[in-house]
Amino acid sequence: MSLAYTTEKQFAISAVQRACLVTSSVFNKLVKNETLVKGDKSPVTVGDYSAQAVISSMLHRAFPKDPIVGEEDAADLRAENGALLRNRIVELANEALSAELGIGDIPEWGIGPGSKQTADELLDAIDRGNYEGGRSGRMWTIDPIDGTKGFLRGEQYAVCLALIVDAQVQVGVLGCPNLPLDLSKPDGDKGCLFIAVKGQGAQQMKLNGADPIPLTMPPYSPSTFTFLESVEAAHSSHSTTSRISAILGLTQPPIRMDSQVKYGCLARGDGGAYLRMPTGVGYKEKIWDHATGSLLVTESGGIITDSRGHPLDFGLGRTLGENYGVIATAKDAHDRLLSAVQEVVKQEQAEAVSK
Ligand code: AMP
Ligand code: MG
Repeated sequence: MSLAYTTEKQFAISAVQRACLVTSSVFNKLVKNETLVKGDKSPVTVGDYSAQAVISSMLHRAFPKDPIVGEEDAADLRAENGALLRNRIVELANEALSAELGIGDIPEWGIGPGSKQTADELLDAIDRGNYEGGRSGRMWTIDPIDGTKGFLRGEQYAVCLALIVDAQVQVGVLGCPNLPLDLSKPDGDKGCLFIAVKGQGAQQMKLNGADPIPLTMPPYSPSTFTFLESVEAAHSSHSTTSRISAILGLTQPPIRMDSQVKYGCLARGDGGAYLRMPTGVGYKEKIWDHATGSLLVTESGGIITDSRGHPLDFGLGRTLGENYGVIATAKDAHDRLLSAVQEVVKQEQAEAVSK
C-alpha cells in the first residue's frame, strides 16, 4: 500500500528548498551588501514576494485546482511605481525556478534550467494566495518568510508551507536556512528542513535533503525544561512567560528565537515547550504562522492547544479565529503547563481590575 500524500510531501520539500534559495540570495545581495537604514523593510519585501512567487507558481503547475492562503498579495507590485521592485522579484524568482534539478524535483512543476516565468505570471502566482480559507476541501498555506525581523538580523527565520485538508493539517514543511543542525553547536553546520505528514511522523534533514532523522519529542524533564518564545515581546508576553516559569520552578532561561523555527526545535527536543502568550486583546493568529508547526508538534508526539487549552482550528478562514496564544509541549507536560498558564492569567486579570 502506498503512503498517503507522498507526492505532496515531495513537492513541499522541493518548493521550500527553492524558496530558501531565494531568501538566502536576498540576504546575501540585499542585507549583507547594502547599507540598511534602521527599519528598512525592503529586503523583507523583496524576499517575501519572491519566495511566495516561487512556491505559488510551482503549486499552480503541480496542483492547479488547490487554493492557496498566502501572506502576500501583489497589489503594490502592479502599481506603476512598483517597477523596480517588480523587476527585482522577477529576477530572483526566476533564478530559483531555473536552478538545477535536485533529487525528487519534477520538471513538470515548472522548475529546472530554462524554467522562467514572465512578470505577469509571477504576479498572478503571488495573487493566487488570496484564498479565504475554510472548513472543507484542500488548501495550501504559505508563509514565505516567517520571522522577518530575525531574517534582517541574520538570525532565525523560516519558509513555511502546509497542506490542509478539511481543516486538518496533513503535510507541513519548514525550511530553516540559519538553524544549526544541533543547537548546542551554534557554530556547526546550519540549514535544516523539518517535515511532517499526518500519521507518518516528523523528520529533520539538512536543507539539501541529506541525513534524514525521525523526530520524537522527549518526555518532561524538570532539570532541562524551558520555553521557546518569540524574540519580539509584542508577539508573546515575556513577562507572562517569566511568571509561568517561576510557578513551575524552572531553572533554565527561555530560548528566544523568531518564527516557526521554534516548533522545529521543540519537535527535535530543544527546550521543552513552545509558549506564545497574547500581549493584548484581539490579535488573531494567522493560519500560516502555525499550520506546519502544529503538525510537527503532534507528529513528534506532542500536544498543541491555544493558551486556554482549546485545539487550534484551521477551518475558520485565514486566521485561527478565537484561538489566542499557543501552548505546545510533550504529552506529559501539557496539563501542568496549562494549569500554570491559567494561574498566571488569573493573576494578571486580577491585577488589571485593581489598577
Ligand atoms: P514570532 O517570530 O514567533 O514572534 O512570530 C512571527 C509572527 O508573529 C509574524 O509572522 C506575524 O504574523 C505574527 N504577529 C504579528 N503581530 C503579532 C501579535 N501582536 N501577536 C502575535 N503574533 C503576531
Ligand atoms: Mg509569519
